[in-house]
Amino acid sequence: MDFSLTEEHLMIRDAARDFAQTELLPGVIERDDKQTFPQELVRKMGELGFMGIMVDPKYGGSGMDTISYVLIMEELSKIDASASVMVSVNNSLVCYGLEAYGTEEQKQKYLTKLATGEQIGAFCLSEPEAGSDATSQATTAIDKGDHYILNGTKNWITNGGRSDVYLVIAQTDREKGHRGINAFIVEKGMEGFDIGPKEDKLGIRGSDTHTLQFNDVKVPKENRIGEDGFGFKFAMKTLSGGRIGIAAQALGIASGAYELALKYSKERKAFGTEICNHQAIAFKLADMYTEIEAARMLVMRAAWDKDQGNNYDMSSAMAKLYASKVAMEQSVEAVQIHGGNGFVKEYHVERLMRDAKITQIYEGTSEIQKIVISRGVIKG
Ligand SMILES: Cc1cc2nc3c(=O)[nH]c(=O)nc-3n(C[C@H](O)[C@H](O)[C@H](O)COP(=O)(O)OP(=O)(O)OC[C@H]3O[C@@H](n4cnc5c(N)ncnc54)[C@H](O)[C@@H]3O)c2cc1C
Repeated sequence: MDFSLTEEHLMIRDAARDFAQTELLPGVIERDDKQTFPQELVRKMGELGFMGIMVDPKYGGSGMDTISYVLIMEELSKIDASASVMVSVNNSLVCYGLEAYGTEEQKQKYLTKLATGEQIGAFCLSEPEAGSDATSQATTAIDKGDHYILNGTKNWITNGGRSDVYLVIAQTDREKGHRGINAFIVEKGMEGFDIGPKEDKLGIRGSDTHTLQFNDVKVPKENRIGEDGFGFKFAMKTLSGGRIGIAAQALGIASGAYELALKYSKERKAFGTEICNHQAIAFKLADMYTEIEAARMLVMRAAWDKDQGNNYDMSSAMAKLYASKVAMEQSVEAVQIHGGNGFVKEYHVERLMRDAKITQIYEGTSEIQKIVISRGVIKG
């Protein structure tokens, strides 16, 4: 067993770290405040190959492995989790979904632009009445021969306003239950497709989250992904990989908060000494570091499983469950170590604490991860 990173992995990590420090850190507080994220930064992430990290170079991707993806996600998330969720959704839900299950025509038409960051994608599963219970899809797609007619509402859609390509899950045959669900490629601008206002959120405020409306949208049959009835499996398979990305995001938020807390504790003095010399603070740092390293092991294990071609449903669920818990708990501790300064924006840890919460909710809540893990454990 070798825990060390390769030279190439270290270079990729350093490139992401450098980009996060030089390009994402300036303006991160203002972007959070104003709920914006400039397209220029998305373009730069595309240029660095961050929008199609694992995609085959023949489709415009970087051809890297999942370990590289995790390293990039961690570094971006230390500074700006709004940037990293855009990267995560585009990479592991949209690009992966198209590369693994799309037709050659779909890959040529959509993936090549998404993998370079020329276009960006969204993954549309959740609905007002179908969140954790994703089988209760109310959105319908009625087969009309050479096309489908799509009707319904999707909510909480990341990249909802800025995307060009939307992978939409819909019910095509209610009698067949989850086997009557399909996934479709919908383009921005298709007639009857409307984007609602941006949500005003607690965290990842730079990431745009929207409700989408589909009113008699005509979707060509060639835009269906996979065989008829494959949509639910498609969603579950892509989300399984997506969870590795969100686990890495959580790891980044936790390690970003920890690094800030460690630095602060070596500078801030109270009772005549740096606060890291008080055992209560030193022990917090010990717990933070240990838990973050434990989360890292689970995240790397899940990435490794995916790279090895192993089943990663369990390992990705465990990584997300644990890393998101660590992100939430340790970002609270980072605020505590900063005292009053932790409560104001310029010290960054309050934002990381707000950003941490979403990692326990999206791409399957922590409760849903426990359902996945417990099923796996009981099945053996
Ligand atoms: C900022 C943001 C971005 C998002 N981005 C996307 C996106 O890009 N695409 C997309 O499709 N969705 C997205 N989502 C939606 C997200 O995946 C859902 O919010 C999440 O799956 C939970 O669904 P829900 O909100 O309907 O909660 P519910 O399903 O109503 O759950 C409410 C509570 O009940 C618990 N619960 C539900 N069922 C069970 C059960 N069987 N056992 C135990 N506990 C249970 C849940 O864990 C939770 O605590 C996003 C959400 C947010 C907030």
